[in-house]
Parts: sequence; structure tokens; C-alpha cells
Amino acid sequence: MTTTKKIAVVGAGPAGIYFADAMSRLDPSARIDVLERLPFPYGLVRYGVAADHQGTKSVTQILARAMRRPNVRYYGGVEIGRDLSLAELDQIYDAVVLATGASRGRTVEFPAEDDCESVCAFDLARWLNGYPGLPPFSRKPLRSVAIIGNGNVALDMVRLLAKPANVLARLDLSTEGVQWLQSNALEQIDIIGRGRAGETRFSVAELGELAQLEYFQPLPEQLDLLECGETRNNGALEVLRRFSVAPVRDARPIRFHFGCVISRYERGALHVLFSGKPRKLAADLVIHAVGQHAGGLPGIGGGDAREGIEHSNGVVSGRESTFAVGWAMGAGRGTIPESRGSAQAVAQLVAAAACKPSGSEREASLERILNARVVRYVSWDAWQRIDRSEIELGRMSGKIRHKYQTASECADAIIQSSHQHKLATSIREPAS
Ligand SMILES: Cc1cc2nc3c(=O)[nH]c(=O)nc-3n(C[C@H](O)[C@H](O)[C@H](O)COP(=O)(O)OP(=O)(O)OC[C@H]3O[C@@H](n4cnc5c(N)ncnc54)[C@H](O)[C@@H]3O)c2cc1C
Repeated sequence: MTTTKKIAVVGAGPAGIYFADAMSRLDPSARIDVLERLPFPYGLVRYGVAADHQGTKSVTQILARAMRRPNVRYYGGVEIGRDLSLAELDQIYDAVVLATGASRGRTVEFPAEDDCESVCAFDLARWLNGYPGLPPFSRKPLRSVAIIGNGNVALDMVRLLAKPANVLARLDLSTEGVQWLQSNALEQIDIIGRGRAGETRFSVAELGELAQLEYFQPLPEQLDLLECGETRNNGALEVLRRFSVAPVRDARPIRFHFGCVISRYERGALHVLFSGKPRKLAADLVIHAVGQHAGGLPGIGGGDAREGIEHSNGVVSGRESTFAVGWAMGAGRGTIPESRGSAQAVAQLVAAAACKPSGSEREASLERILNARVVRYVSWDAWQRIDRSEIELGRMSGKIRHKYQTASECADAIIQSSHQHKLATSIREPAS
């Protein structure tokens, strides 16, 4: 008798869905349930990747194909640790794959006065992208901003802050996010890095894109480029050198400060030391774009744990048949293709692992538990209705998409498209 292998995937970001994709190919008889705490799939592709990079976001089309496979099911709006415990998943499934992504942004520590505003790029990206359930907060219009970090997320922040109002209005950003970006009257943007100009993590393409900004011009100072450090990123250094000798346009400056130590943030100015010499940079807001803390689940990394889930090549330490993929595995950094790589490698391990002895007796118990607890979930079919409704609503207001943020908006979208009243009205508000 062949036994159907049952696998739970916690998290429907790219890593979780790439895992489901690889697993469903390796073992077409396996049943793969993807559980996601939000009604909406795709994790940081929806809530992190910059809205002006729709080409990158179109990876959702590939991910959606995987979710439509007959042996893959979606349970949106089900949070492990709230609706169901990991121990319960262990009882239902032969293997549990944690794809919980990052939990929060990292910050650089320095003394700051209470009224000096700072935010992590991770949180700001989520807010701009309409992440559900975030506490409301009003952002003051900015005249100056300092961004700490020398990676692509810092560049994402620069582009969104520097793009013209009419371009921003067409993207799939939240209404409040667009209003705030449009209210800013930025005179300058400063990018601050601890490493030297040759040691950045900027990609050549994304750095080069800054030259196309209409109202801003990237202007690194030649002095900062002279001491370029280890030059482990020659391509980006070349682009910076080109920027530094380009004719100065009538545009607002994007300035780069490399090899900096931040000493304090007071009275709307960030004080930094460059080669031991002080510089004072006006900053109504400081954005920390220095990475994320990997997430996890209660009792298994995440929370206050700094480096997420402890594992060896994706096999979670001290637990049976539990695996980790994507950002949940490590330092909360890496690209979408890297998440695919880790997901495919772990799928091989899960495919090779044996089923638990009582596998065939556990049929449908996930639904039984969810029904008993009155936890209604969003199926893939329901998500597709929400998706179509978001695109249609966006089209009517000249945007790529209007993202829903509340369960009642989702419920309305499902009702309108299918009259599935019972399912739709019972979707709960997502927790933050
Ligand atoms: C601002 C920003 C911009 C980026 N831009 C790019 C880019 O341009 N190109 C690129 O390649 N990469 C980019 N990345 C990186 C990319 O987003 C990640 O590589 C990728 O999203 C990691 O995938 P993941 O599935 O591990 O995590 P995530 O995308 O975070 O997905 C994790 C999922 O797990 C869910 N989850 C968490 N806990 C639970 C729980 N207890 N129960 C159920 N579900 C849970 C979450 O809701 C989420 O949907 C960017 C990242 C950020 C922050």
C-alpha cells in the first residue's frame, strides 16, 4: 500500500510556495498544505519588493501556478502559534516546513533624542505596501531624510522617496503611503554606509537606475570614493565614479557617505564621523535599511532570537521532521531566487524522508480542527477572486492594483464574485 505523504508549509511567501512547487513535482502523490497567517499570499513580494519594480513582483505568476497544482492547498488567514500549534501540525503531518520569513527590521544603535524620528525600511516598506493590521501612524512631511545602509533596500527607499507624484499614484502602494510620499518636499537624500565605497551591496542595475530620476541626481563626493576599501563590488564602484563626474543638473542631490560612524541624532540632524572628521546631515527622518531579523515560531526561534530558527542545512535542530526554508533559515536576507534555491534543496530532503507510521489515519484533521475552532480560511479559489477584484478596483482608479487591507474588504470581494456568503463573512481581520 502506498501512503500519501502529508506536508504542512508555514508561510506563503516565495520560499514556502517554491517549496510546495518543488515538492509537488518530486512527489506528485504528496499532499501539501500551505498555511499563511494573512488572507493574502506572497509575503514580501507583496509587502516588501518596491512597488516601482513590478517586473520583480511578477514572480507571483510563477508562484500562483504552483499553488494551482491539484496536490497543493492554500489556507490563508491561519496563523501557526495562534490558531494552531506546531505540536498539532506534528500530529497531522509527516513533515512541517517553516517558511515564516523575517520578523522585524534591524537597526543601528546610536544615541537619539526622543523627538528624532526613525523607522526600519522593513516596517516602512510594509506600511507603504498596505500591510494589514499595522497601527495607524501619521508621518510628517519630510524636507530631508537619511538612509542608513548600502544595499538594494536602501536604494528602493531612495527611489520611492524621489519618484514624481504622478508615477507614485499609479503604483500598488497604499493610499496613505502615496499621500505621505506626495506630501514630502525633499531637498536632499543622504545615504550612509559604514563600509567604504568599494564594499557596498548595491547591485549595478539598481544603483544605475538612480541616474534616471527626474528631480534628483546621485552625487557621491570624489573624496568619499578615493578610499574605496576592499573593492569587493567593483561594478557598483564604477557606477559611483561615473555619478561623481557627471555634469551637475538642476536637481536635488542624493549624497553618499561611506566609511561613516554615526555618533548621534539630535535636533533633526544626524552627526557622523567620516575618516575621523565630523559631518552634520539634516534628517527629518532616519531610515534603517540594514537587514532584518529572521522570524520563527514561539519556542522555535524568532521573537527575540537574533538569527531565527536553528537548523543544519534546513533540518531544524532538536525536532523531528521539521525543516526551514528561505529567510526563516538565517539572517533574514537574500533574494527571491536564493529562497527558491533553499526551498528546492529542502524539498529533496523531505521527499527522501519516510512517512510517519500513522500517516494514513490522519485524513482531514486540519479541517476538523479549524472548523471546531471556527477558524475560517481563505482558499486559493477565494484568493483568486480577491486578486481579480483588487486589480479591477485599481484599474478603475488608474492604478496597477488597489490592495485590500481588511477582512471585510476581502469578504465583499468574494461575495460580489461568487455569493459565497458563508465563507466570505467569516474571514477574520488579520493580526498585525
Ligand atoms: C524592502 C524589501 C525589498 C526587497 N526587494 C527584493 C527585490 O527587489 N528582489 C529580490 O529578489 N528580493 C527582494 N527582497 C527579498 C525578498 O523579499 C525575500 O528574499 C523573500 O521574500 C523571502 O521569502 P520568504 O518566503 O522566506 O519570506 P517572506 O516573503 O517574508 O514570507 C514569509 C511568509 O510567512 C508568513 N508567516 C510568518 N509567520 C507565520 C505564522 N506563524 N503562521 C503562518 N504564516 C506565517 C508571513 O505572513 C509571510 O507571508 C526584498 C526584501 C525587502 C524587505
